[in-house]
Amino acid sequence: MKYDRTYNFSAGPATMPESVLEEIRDEMMNYRGSGMCVMEMSHRSKMFQQIFEEAKQDLRDLMNIPDNYKILFIQGGATLQFSMIPMNLMKNGKAVYIETGAWSKKAIAEAKKVGEVIVAASSKDKNYTYIPDCSDLDIPEDTDYVYICENETIHGVTWATLPNTKGHVLVSDQSSMFLSKPCNVADYGMIYGGVQKNIGPAGMAIVIIREDLIREDLADLPVYMQYKTHADGDSLYNTPNCWAIYCCGKVFKYLKDLGGLEAMEKINIDKAKVFYDFLEESKMFTGTVVPEARSLMNIPFVTESAELDAEVIAFTKAAGFENLKGHKSVGGLRASIYNAMPKEGVEALVDCLKKFEAEHK
Ligand SMILES: *Cc1c(COP(=O)(O)O)cnc(C)c1O
Repeated sequence: MKYDRTYNFSAGPATMPESVLEEIRDEMMNYRGSGMCVMEMSHRSKMFQQIFEEAKQDLRDLMNIPDNYKILFIQGGATLQFSMIPMNLMKNGKAVYIETGAWSKKAIAEAKKVGEVIVAASSKDKNYTYIPDCSDLDIPEDTDYVYICENETIHGVTWATLPNTKGHVLVSDQSSMFLSKPCNVADYGMIYGGVQKNIGPAGMAIVIIREDLIREDLADLPVYMQYKTHADGDSLYNTPNCWAIYCCGKVFKYLKDLGGLEAMEKINIDKAKVFYDFLEESKMFTGTVVPEARSLMNIPFVTESAELDAEVIAFTKAAGFENLKGHKSVGGLRASIYNAMPKEGVEALVDCLKKFEAEHK
């Protein structure tokens, strides 16, 4: 393999497109005649401004983001958003959350510190292996928003149809599925995600928020915690994560060149099918999620025992495949196959697992 790189199935930070890494390498010492690396550049410089504007425009093009939505780059990852969302969007102090796995659970815990949280549906009864029916939820009239984690990175469940919010604002954590398929932004009040799963380096969240949700009456909140601060300052209130913005911008261009999110989705469906077909066939490995809720990005699976799981991890690691251990909270195995994981990587992993199965009959 070129550069002796490994197939990295990490859930995040995760694999990036090789061509993007090569471009970054080529521009590392002297970005386009500036005589410096983007890391060394003022965030107010003309050169960085151009990187920044192009990144925003390319993301807007890719997701068809309507004009009445702002794109914000905010540090603190997706986790800071668990707090910023209730602090900014709870006008009546009440929100509905759907509990579908570890990440929505964390968001619920943080929102409870700010206001009343109604968990209107949960899949906890079956260990978060499905998406509950949310077509007719009991949603109080004065609910400020309905919150979902659209792709649960740890449990590997994803929403096939969005919940019926009965006219309330929908807020979605798309961290681990950002830009994996087309998305109708107008269906949401806010979409956000940490970028280190499916886009770029860690340390930043992208927030796409409908303008009318950005409040003017929150002057008592710490200034960094107000969406208004980031909107008014065009994400440059303080020094942003310039490096992450630059790398994400490269990935946006890479996705555009690929044919956009429709093309990316086709590739992702085709790629995930390789793995799910293998799980169907295998007598040793089983997927943990019901077929309707299976993620295209994170695939948790198990053998009959934790001991055998550990053997599989050692076997795959020796064969050059990294990070197949399931999250410590759920155990088992997990293959994260984000946008940048090539189909050949998935095929090679399947071959390796088949070999293991044959040797351990
Ligand atoms: C990783 C992840 C987070 C947390 O992201 P950080 O950037 O580490 O704060 C939140 N939600 C989902 C769905 C994730 O996968």
